Amino acid sequence: MRVLVTGSAGFIAHHVITRLLARGDTVIGVDNLESSGDVTLKQARLTHLESVTGAERFTCHRADITDAASLAALFRHEQPERVVHLAARVGVRSAGASAQSYLDANVTGFLQVLEQSHAARVAHVVYASSSSVYGAGTPPPFAETAAADHPLNVYSATKRAGELLAHTYSHLYGLPTSGLRFFTVYGPWGRPDMAPLRFLRALREGHPIDLYGEGRMRRDFTHVDDVAEAVVRVLDRPPTGAPPYRLLNVGRGEPVSLRDFVAVLERHTGTQALLNPRPAQPGEMDATWSDSTALERETGFRPRVSVDEGLAGLVAWEQEHSRPPPDEPHEVDTVT
Ligand code: NAD
Repeated sequence: MRVLVTGSAGFIAHHVITRLLARGDTVIGVDNLESSGDVTLKQARLTHLESVTGAERFTCHRADITDAASLAALFRHEQPERVVHLAARVGVRSAGASAQSYLDANVTGFLQVLEQSHAARVAHVVYASSSSVYGAGTPPPFAETAAADHPLNVYSATKRAGELLAHTYSHLYGLPTSGLRFFTVYGPWGRPDMAPLRFLRALREGHPIDLYGEGRMRRDFTHVDDVAEAVVRVLDRPPTGAPPYRLLNVGRGEPVSLRDFVAVLERHTGTQALLNPRPAQPGEMDATWSDSTALERETGFRPRVSVDEGLAGLVAWEQEHSRPPPDEPHEVDTVT
C-alpha cells in the first residue's frame, strides 16, 4: 500500500512510519521541518528512520501542507492510496500567543490535505485529533458521543475544527475519514516540550519540576507503541457508514496524577525529584480519561502498555539518547 504521512519528522509519525515500513508499505512523508519544536530532533528522527526495516521504501518531502500547489503536485506525483495526517502546530500552552499559526497549520493545512485526498480519490484519511477537544463540561471517562463543543484553548479549537471539516468532506464527497483523539502520548523519540521528557531531563539534571495544578492534574498517559498500533489498525479499516466518518478515542483509560507520574519516574531513575507545585494554567483541563470501547469494537485493539512499563522503557531510551544529536543534517527532498 502507498501511504502518505504528513508530519513525517514528528514524534508519533516516527512510530507509525516504522510500523508501515516493517509490514511492507511504501511511505511518502511530508514535513516542513520548521513550524515548531526542535528541528535537530526532527532531523535525528529522520536519520534514525534510515536504519529501520524497509527504509528504502520511505521518502520524505520537505513541504508545507498549507501550500496548496506543492501539496497538489505531491499527490499527483506520488498517488497515495491512503493518508495518515499527523502534521500540526502542537502544544496547548503557546497556542494563545500565536493563534494564527495554529489556524494556518491545523485548519487551512488540514483543509488542503482533505481537498487533495478527495481529488486523488484516496481510500481512507486517518487524522490526528486530540483528547483536548473534550474541553470543559464533559463527564469522565470521555466517550466520542459527548458534545465536545467547549474547547479551552486555541489548539483544541483547531483540532475540533478539523473534525468538523473531515465530517463535511465525508458527507459531501464520500471521502472515508477517521479522526483519532490521542490522549497524552509519550515514549521514545518524544517531544521534549511535553511533560514526560521534561520531567525526566529535570530529574537527570537536578532541576526542580514545575507541577501544574499542584500535581493533582490527571492525564491519561498513552504509550506511543499503542498509538502507532491503533493508527495502523484504523488505517486498514475505513469507516463504512453514511457518511463514511468516525471519531475514535485512543487512550489507555487509566488517568494518573502528575505527582504519581513523577513518582514512577523517581522509582525508575532512583532519583528524588525537587518539586515546584504551581497553580493550574488557564486553558488546561483538570483531567483527561479515555473511554476506548469504540476503538476496541472497531479494531479489536485497545492500548495496553502500563505507565510503569512505558516509563521503564522511556528512562532506558533517554539514558541512551541524552548525548547531543549528530551535527550532520539529514537531506530531505524539497517540493516546490
Ligand atoms: P510533532 O510536533 O512531533 O509532529 C508534528 C510534525 O508536523 C512536526 O514534525 C512538524 O514539523 C510538522 N508540521 C507542522 N506544521 C506543518 C506544516 N504546516 N506543514 C508540514 N509539516 C508540518 O507532534 P506529535 O506529538 O507527533 O503529534 C502528531 C499529531 O498528533 C498532531 O496532529 C498532534 O496535534 C496530535 N496529538 C498529539 C498528542 C501528543 O500527546 N503527542 C496528543 C494529542 C494529539
